[in-house]
Amino acid sequence: MERKQFELGDVVQMKKQHPCGSNEMEIIRMGMDIRIKCVGCKHSVLIPRAKFEKNMKKVLRSKSSETSGSEM
Ligand SMILES: [Zn+2]
Repeated sequence: MERKQFELGDVVQMKKQHPCGSNEMEIIRMGMDIRIKCVGCKHSVLIPRAKFEKNMKKVLRSKSSETSGSEM
């Protein structure tokens, strides 16, 4: 069973596109609800965790988990 992993500061790709044309969102707050900020227009929305997990496609850039391979 696949479980989506994400953490604060990650930039994720959503299944649905934002009206501004971007589908990349940055996680700016985590809790029972998750606050994400659109990378395109900087608009932020608060959505329930379950809905976020459903709408999220994948993590594009992770802030902290860069343990495999060192590229500098
Ligand atoms: Zn937007």
